[in-house]
Amino acid sequence: MMDYTILKDKFLQLYSVCLMTKGVKRSVIVDTQREEWYHIPNSLHTILLNYNNQKLEKLFGDFKGEEEILMEYLDFLYENDLIFYAESADCFPLLGDYIESPSIIESAIIDFDSTSQNLQHLEEIFSDLELLGCKNCQFRFFHSPSKAEIIKIVTLLGNSRITSLDFIIKYDESYNVDFLIELTKQNLRIKSVFVHSTPFSRIEIINAEYFSYMGNVVFIMQEIKDETHCGQISPEYFTTNFRMFNESLKYNSCLYKKIGVDTNGNIKNCPTLASSFGNIKQNRLTEIVIKESFTDIWNINKNQLSVCKDCEYRNVCSDCRGFLDESQIHNAKPVLCGYDPYNNVWQE
Ligand code: SF4
Ligand code: SF4
Repeated sequence: MMDYTILKDKFLQLYSVCLMTKGVKRSVIVDTQREEWYHIPNSLHTILLNYNNQKLEKLFGDFKGEEEILMEYLDFLYENDLIFYAESADCFPLLGDYIESPSIIESAIIDFDSTSQNLQHLEEIFSDLELLGCKNCQFRFFHSPSKAEIIKIVTLLGNSRITSLDFIIKYDESYNVDFLIELTKQNLRIKSVFVHSTPFSRIEIINAEYFSYMGNVVFIMQEIKDETHCGQISPEYFTTNFRMFNESLKYNSCLYKKIGVDTNGNIKNCPTLASSFGNIKQNRLTEIVIKESFTDIWNINKNQLSVCKDCEYRNVCSDCRGFLDESQIHNAKPVLCGYDPYNNVWQE
């Protein structure tokens, strides 16, 4: 335990990249720079809200008789680099809100199956995504695409502003694993290639020397038959960076600035949702994204949803609006979330 008597004149400072969310029974503190998160009691959340930027002397003075627990709290925060002690107050102002991206669309999911016509319309789709400023694109194949199809997509995006490209493809014996690895090596914008329905599991980390999260080729035995595989909420999918935390305070944490095209060419907020706003055979993505009916769902945040509004994870978990009927879409918790914030338990 630290000697707090020598620190009594110092000011408690929560690092400004550390953001908190209070739930009904406990809170979460997120180090958005290191992308790590911790549970904390609601009493500690209140202390950090009220005593940040205050002298330790004042804090200990207000909690006479509770010094033991207070020191435990402070030790925990200090050891995890969530707080520090400053010589003077007000030297470390809070960070402002994150800056909104200028892109009209940030991410796209394009689905294909063996009968899909989407490949014929790829050039139009890509040209529109470029105009809209899209940077992240996921291609999901529920069958095994030919090598030529994969190469066509990567080549067409060769001069685009896409910085993160994900593929989900079905395993085929004719695939040469080396082909996927070489493709990923040669194309630094490939973030991941997930090969599903494989007879083995394997992970190849290709471009880790550039960014640790880029360039992974992952073989999974699970079959991905269609778009309904998406939407699971669990801690392994939490996103804990500064932009996403702040974005989720206002907007939908999955669908904000997202567009999807399903296997039939229907243009949607994401391929899983029921509502379609047009079809790539008749419409351009650029004309769909300006419709208010399309962007309405972007403004649904967790503070508006029953259960989620009381949950300590509401600024780090995703928000799936799939699998809900029209009457639930603006107010119900995601169907595939088994978390109960009133008892702090996850159910299957
Ligand atoms: S209840 Fe589930 S979906 Fe809702 S905020 Fe909590 S973890 Fe996220
Ligand atoms: S809304 Fe649900 S189904 Fe759609 S992309 Fe998000 S998580 Fe997946």
